[in-house]
Amino acid sequence: MLNFQQGLDFALKQDKKDALSSYRNQFHIPKDKDGNDGIYMVGNSLGLQPKNAQTYIDEVLTDWATLGVEGHFLAKNPWATYHELLGKQMAQVVGAKPIEVVVMNSLTANLHFMMASFYQPTKTRYKILIEADAFPSDKYAVESQLQHHGFDAKEGLVLWKPRKGEDLPNYEDLETILESRGNEIAVILIGAVNYYTGQYFDLKRITELGHKHGCMVGFDCAHGAGNVNLNLHDSGADFAAWCTYKYLNSGPGSIAGCFVHERHAYNKKLNRFTGWWSHNKETRFKMRDDFDQLPGAEGWQLSNPPILAMATIRASLEIFEEVGMAKLIEKSKQLTAYLEFLLNELATDAITIITPNNPEERGCQLSIQVKNADKSVFNKLTDLGVMADWREPNVMRFAPVPLYNSFQDVFNLVERLKLVLNH
Ligand SMILES: *Cc1c(COP(=O)(O)O)cnc(C)c1O
Repeated sequence: MLNFQQGLDFALKQDKKDALSSYRNQFHIPKDKDGNDGIYMVGNSLGLQPKNAQTYIDEVLTDWATLGVEGHFLAKNPWATYHELLGKQMAQVVGAKPIEVVVMNSLTANLHFMMASFYQPTKTRYKILIEADAFPSDKYAVESQLQHHGFDAKEGLVLWKPRKGEDLPNYEDLETILESRGNEIAVILIGAVNYYTGQYFDLKRITELGHKHGCMVGFDCAHGAGNVNLNLHDSGADFAAWCTYKYLNSGPGSIAGCFVHERHAYNKKLNRFTGWWSHNKETRFKMRDDFDQLPGAEGWQLSNPPILAMATIRASLEIFEEVGMAKLIEKSKQLTAYLEFLLNELATDAITIITPNNPEERGCQLSIQVKNADKSVFNKLTDLGVMADWREPNVMRFAPVPLYNSFQDVFNLVERLKLVLNH
């Protein structure tokens, strides 16, 4: 790790040395009220727009205007196979094989489709385990799955909670739960990187634990995809889903990603919902054949996908492909460690970092608890040109994103935080 120093000079020097610094120019950076680049720390919520997004959307619009329906096969990037390139690039980002990944639907919808296949409750094994601080949508989805199968949502939900007085759940407690009740649990669904604390879980460890007790294991990678090395294939997880509008910069509500482990790729006996897009590509357009299951994650698609929305994902994934996750994470670790260093140098007991301090157990986000705070602290930061995120009752989340945030951004953030905390 770098030997960090205080002062703006250090930040500027780091930016000069940063091999990825030019990528910032490939994104639109929202301005503050004085017309300068704002300090954008919410790439964990909505990633910034790659400038190429416009180009690729225009390309689809032009092909549609000039070719009409023929665009399915004659467009510059034919619509019939448009998602296939994205699937391959996306597989690189999440550490999976191409057959394991597809871009489709939205995140919560994908979680439901995954549970349609992998949540097969019996009378005795029907519970679903999630982390206590799971993202609300995941909790609601899981509760409705329980109810859909005729179980009581409260009773069927098993929570992996932090110990009293602690912020993060620990693995020994997960082991204890599984040892005592593992045979009642059908599915484990964990946020790979917890949205609130920024804790990056050990996917492989959780998967092995779950499988040892006969559970299916899936991950919501909304805060992991494009942020950490997920290594989904090696983790052994049965399934995963993520959105593309956070670290993957594909625009508000854009299409999501989905992973199904290779071991399930050719299993035609799995329950699932299907449509013409889950049917064998060779005969799909003959429209007369009996259903013929497409292998791999693509076999979970239902509909022909929205190409306009995929155009922005294409713009984004192209950048990820060029940079590669390894380089991205190398910078990410430095940038976040620098933020941690500056926060610790504040030497105030007004803030506590609740994100793990081990770089292997987090991505770029740091979550900060502010003592006796109300939202006014956060509002003052906003007035100073910082775009960050406030979670009730007292947590601020900052995500310096390695693709477009600079060391100077991090320096400026902490300077403003100092002002707000009256330091
Ligand atoms: C952002 C996020 C969601 C949002 O779900 P959508 O279906 O995309 O609206 C769900 N779960 C987690 C863990 C998230 O971080």
